[in-house]
Amino acid sequence: MTDASLLYYTGRFVRTDLDCDGVSGTPDPASAPEAMLIEHGTIVAIGSRDEVPAPAAATHIDLGEGWVLPGLIEPHGHPSESASLMGNGVIDIRPVTLARADQVWDAIKIALAASPRPPRVVANGWDPLLQPGLTPPTLANLDALAGEVPLVIVHNSLHSAYFNTAAAREAGIDRNTPDPVGASFGRDSSGALTGLALEAAAVAQIVGPTLAAAEADMPRRLTTHLLELRRTRGITTIADLTWNHQLGQLATALAAAGSLPVRLRGYETSSPGATASVPLENGDAWYRQVGIKIWSDGSPWVGNIATSFPYLDTAATRALGFEHGHIGHANYTTEQLIEIGSQYAGEGWQFACHAHGDVAIDSTLDAYEALITKFGLHDHRFRIEHCGLMTPAQFERAARLGVAVSLFVDHITYWGDVIVDDLFGERGLAYADAGAAFAAGHRATFHNDGTVTPCEPLRNMAVAETRTSRTGRHLGGGSAVTRRDSLRAHTSNAAWQLRSEHEIGSLAPGLRADFAVIDVDPRSAAPEALAEARVLATAVDGQLDTASA
Ligand SMILES: [Zn+2]
Repeated sequence: MTDASLLYYTGRFVRTDLDCDGVSGTPDPASAPEAMLIEHGTIVAIGSRDEVPAPAAATHIDLGEGWVLPGLIEPHGHPSESASLMGNGVIDIRPVTLARADQVWDAIKIALAASPRPPRVVANGWDPLLQPGLTPPTLANLDALAGEVPLVIVHNSLHSAYFNTAAAREAGIDRNTPDPVGASFGRDSSGALTGLALEAAAVAQIVGPTLAAAEADMPRRLTTHLLELRRTRGITTIADLTWNHQLGQLATALAAAGSLPVRLRGYETSSPGATASVPLENGDAWYRQVGIKIWSDGSPWVGNIATSFPYLDTAATRALGFEHGHIGHANYTTEQLIEIGSQYAGEGWQFACHAHGDVAIDSTLDAYEALITKFGLHDHRFRIEHCGLMTPAQFERAARLGVAVSLFVDHITYWGDVIVDDLFGERGLAYADAGAAFAAGHRATFHNDGTVTPCEPLRNMAVAETRTSRTGRHLGGGSAVTRRDSLRAHTSNAAWQLRSEHEIGSLAPGLRADFAVIDVDPRSAAPEALAEARVLATAVDGQLDTASA
């Protein structure tokens, strides 16, 4: 008789939480634990076959030649937004899908010409820096193109969108619509809309009808998206950094029915004057809201990150419409950040603040320091997200304040050349300096940011080590990350940032049995091999799901 609550796995396990596992030294295949016993989804024992009991009642599962890592954690994703904006009528024009400007316009025109006439056309992924030749369209351009069909073109960063008159009408936006706090609609000298939505709150308003249309289908969309991440990427937990608390009910119901594919951690979008929609103590190991999200500045690719220095004057920045000496500005003053932060921080909520430019990062750290002092906070784990142009001194200050950092290192893969040649010159060579973060003592993490780049934690680890773009450009101004640190960025460090280290993040007794099986030894594989490694199987709570299933 086997006992379904008891699982005995054999294979080659990699404990990224320990120094003695070879991760920090010369890997010895024989040093990897070779057995793991799981009871009711929790790891009971892990070690050599001699050390781990093998109860006759347990189901024995052999993981064969694969290498077993702790389940990979995406600490900054947007799965609900991705479920709404990927497929199902939304045109995918992302630079990872379409490389050229003419392909982008062709895709939009084909969608508009569909028969029967589409209720609306939303294209997601505009990026003139990686799709050279795209120039900012005006409201009149898009009216001429789409006529009465609402048309919205969303920038790949999700920090801006272009729209026509029909789209504005459908979303209930006109010249009298006030700008949301921290965001704006483009207007001409007479106050008329120019067809530009800038920053998250304005973009959310203009794509509102699309999001509303997707909502009814959300259970299917969300589970399909999460299942793919689990099976093909080894993801076992993902944080949603534009979480809408109303989706909490759906997540709870899916978890109760046993059909939530991965664990979810939500960060509710902050807004001026608001308080958290749920109590601080909420949810369980499958789903809970853990924090609050705010955006200190915008996207490097849109031109609205707050820096102390100007963008370069290049053909690329001129095509984006930047004047000579263009400098971006923050969405909020430090005082506004403190005011919004105070609405939540006093209750003990963790903040995750988007900040790329050095000025935005200073302002965010100033605001965090003020909140820490004002509320006497300890172990707040306030986060800074992306950290594009964060300096070593800023990483050190953040570490002293107990502020955590999550870096978008995959920007180097796709935009590495653009960062240096087109936007920031020498300064760009130190972009997303994960090495400086670890040197400052951070438990840093990496992420792919929802639809912005494909969710590829193993590729993130590799690029943090090599700092090399997809064309082979090396960004040598920042420092490389060790394999031990890169593995921890998507496992134990991510668990800690999500306040979940008591549940997940390591292969250790007492934690939930979440793991990913890959086809290379993650301790010794070359970065390029790690980036291309195949996920063979993934387990959440010990329940195994193979990539081909
Ligand atoms: Zn994000």
